[in-house]
Amino acid sequence: MRVIETIRELQDLADAERAAGRKISLVPTMGALHPGHLALVETGRERADRVWVSIFVNPTQFNAPADLEKYPRQLEVDLERCCESGVDVVFCPAAEEMYPDGAQTAVEVGALAESLCGATRPGHFKGVTTIVTKLLLAAKPHFAIFGEKDYQQLAIVRRMVLDLGFDVEIVGEPTLRESDGVALSSRNARLTPEARRQATVVVRSLEEAERAVEAGERNSARLLERVRREISKAPLARIDYAELRDPDSLAPVPSTLDGPTLLALAVLFPAAENDSVRLIDNRTLQPNGPSDPSRQNGRV
Ligand code: AMP
Repeated sequence: MRVIETIRELQDLADAERAAGRKISLVPTMGALHPGHLALVETGRERADRVWVSIFVNPTQFNAPADLEKYPRQLEVDLERCCESGVDVVFCPAAEEMYPDGAQTAVEVGALAESLCGATRPGHFKGVTTIVTKLLLAAKPHFAIFGEKDYQQLAIVRRMVLDLGFDVEIVGEPTLRESDGVALSSRNARLTPEARRQATVVVRSLEEAERAVEAGERNSARLLERVRREISKAPLARIDYAELRDPDSLAPVPSTLDGPTLLALAVLFPAAENDSVRLIDNRTLQPNGPSDPSRQNGRV
């Protein structure tokens, strides 16, 4: 496994791989790798001859400086996990490599980035699209693999790639979960033990909405009411947002559901040192049944 720290070296390797007719998958991460990230690696390997992982804690996507400081960093452990998973290249640049002195260029997607997490984390997605652009230009991959857990991020990256004409296929990977259903996230480790126990309420409320739709509920206000009621059963949980959205445009949905609908949740829980952790999760509800030909599995 090669560890590369400069854009130039990565681009040279990408050129050589491409010249030899080999396909490259890139898995962009911020490190603190868990099995969810490694599932993305697996998908990357199935798609291409080479699988590359980037590990970069991107400062421009943190709207709170304290969050950036607290973000877990464990490069040595991550390199070991990548090596064990058969990763071919890890790209782990320093901040100055990705943001050269005096940097003043950014990439910004419009309306898709304004709602949901974009509303509560101003500037976050501008940071994401800027770094994803830089990583795509550095690694020149044929495929880039992203998790559906960060549904809005995936939708925004797909939009950006389409709008700017990037020569890459964006691949979405289903969310990997703990045995109790909680979506794997590096943030879970920061929850207090009681908050971690109560965090199952997030996936339970998604399942509750899914059951309600299966039982015939089509009224969006009533569905959201059920979700909020379920979440309120966990006394430590505080809803940041609970929304029903069009799975492609992320626009608000009509009062009666008539097609696949994204249920997106962000819920705050207490963390150590009087802090809080924001967990996100989502599910695509299928009012016309799972065989709805227009859309399946939340893929954009
Ligand atoms: P992060 O390092 O947390 O920014 O995530 C890097 C990539 O891993 C993103 O595309 C995430 O959507 C994806 N990811 C994070 N958690 C999971 C999970 N539990 N299952 C699948 N993919 C995930």
